[in-house]
Amino acid sequence: MRLFRCGTCNNPVYFENSRCTHCGSDLGYLPTDNIMVAFRYAGEAQVEPPGLGPVRMCANYHQHQVCNWLLPVDSTDAYCLSCRLNRTIPDLSQPGNLQRWHTLETEKRQLIYSLLRLDLPFHPFSAGTGGLGFDFLADQPPHQQAEHPIMTGHDQGLITVNIAEADAVAREATRDQMAESYRTVLGHFRHESGHYFWDRLVWNTPWLEPFRALFGDERLPYQEALNNYYHQGPPAGWHHLYVSQYASSHPWEDWAETWAHYLHMIDTLETAHQFGMRFLAPTRSGEPREPLMTFDPYQQTGFATLTDYWLPLTVALNSLNRSMGHPHAYPFTLSPNAIQKLEFVHELVSSYRRANNNDMT
Ligand SMILES: [Zn+2]
Ligand SMILES: [Zn+2]
Ligand SMILES: [Zn+2]
Repeated sequence: MRLFRCGTCNNPVYFENSRCTHCGSDLGYLPTDNIMVAFRYAGEAQVEPPGLGPVRMCANYHQHQVCNWLLPVDSTDAYCLSCRLNRTIPDLSQPGNLQRWHTLETEKRQLIYSLLRLDLPFHPFSAGTGGLGFDFLADQPPHQQAEHPIMTGHDQGLITVNIAEADAVAREATRDQMAESYRTVLGHFRHESGHYFWDRLVWNTPWLEPFRALFGDERLPYQEALNNYYHQGPPAGWHHLYVSQYASSHPWEDWAETWAHYLHMIDTLETAHQFGMRFLAPTRSGEPREPLMTFDPYQQTGFATLTDYWLPLTVALNSLNRSMGHPHAYPFTLSPNAIQKLEFVHELVSSYRRANNNDMT
């Protein structure tokens, strides 16, 4: 993630900030320009930041304080690019749901940031044209005896998230119950977006056969494969083949898990780059390398360079977490097979960008 500066006082500010802690300026992110805009907000929808033309605040910015994104002033939309993807929001009359929604939107914007930086194709879901949409749903209260709990998942462009995932205690309990090493709201968004982009970028394209050769045949009955996984667990030695245990359940899940890890890698590398981090651990190739990361990972075409930095960064990241008494931030070991799958995602995304004439170094 990029680091930003307050346009009023030059203080470093962060992607999720809606106010500068130094000078008190209000802040809004303008995704079309990838900039953070500082202004003084007095309750109006349209603002005129100094040195910039007027911009419009997302309706969720001033109605519910769950968004900090801006729109071009001439936009006819009330909501920003990220909020326009919502089809169902939580029932705000229920206690706690505003805070849950705030958490969901914060993490969702981090996903959307990466999708935009990677020039990936998506538009808000509509029944006629498809697209990408989000349903944030809650389980029925226990006394109503819901037959089927809300499952987080993807179906033809619509991503459903059970809003209980925004509760740290509930999420941790599920993580423990499922014996997962990692479970975050952002991880869910990244994973589910992978299913959407499989439909867009792999299905019915020349990438389908290479996909099957690497990830397996996705025509394997899906529900049966998932049931087998939940009853029997992952196969022995799964870590030689898959990025996570769950990835072993079906080729689609392998793809979505790998896609999520690709986004973990690119976003975290950008953060490291923005902080000017140096990498002193040995590189995968063993070649001496200038340890200062000097490139924008979102613009990097060479996959080996990304992993040369990513692998030592994960070790450093985990060690930093342990120093603070937290579990590993990235509790995964990437096998050569998992790295090959990550490379497939990288080549696919790069090829899409080249075909659509997006400048890359
Ligand atoms: Zn400031
Ligand atoms: Zn918004
Ligand atoms: Zn999935």
